[in-house]
Amino acid sequence: MSGGVKMMKPKHIKLLQRQSRKLRARRVDRNTIAVESTTNPLASHIVTVRFGSNGSVHARCTCPWAQNRGVACSHVMAALEYLAERKQRTLSFWETEREARRQKQRVFFLSGGGIKSEDGVWITSRGAA
Ligand SMILES: [Zn+2]
Repeated sequence: MSGGVKMMKPKHIKLLQRQSRKLRARRVDRNTIAVESTTNPLASHIVTVRFGSNGSVHARCTCPWAQNRGVACSHVMAALEYLAERKQRTLSFWETEREARRQKQRVFFLSGGGIKSEDGVWITSRGAA
């Protein structure tokens, strides 16, 4: 795979995470979560999640943003939060590895399918009190 394919990252990741917390999610099967659409509460988007080695996470979503090479849409965030909640964990999303590492928590990397670390977002996970 050669370079040149630019992934899109959310510009206001904290705001997006706040929005994602309002979205209802339900599990469809082991790695598939249906998340309420932001624009139409009657519709939902399907998120598939795959956990790789070294804390890497791959996620796909059926929304237009994700289809257009967008990483970390609110549905993916909601789906990951949903899965984390099941394990009594809570997540935070970060634009850079540095910010994520500073939290001194478990760190995951949500890759946008690209290889470069700037093509994804960072996630920290902590125990939900
Ligand atoms: Zn989406």
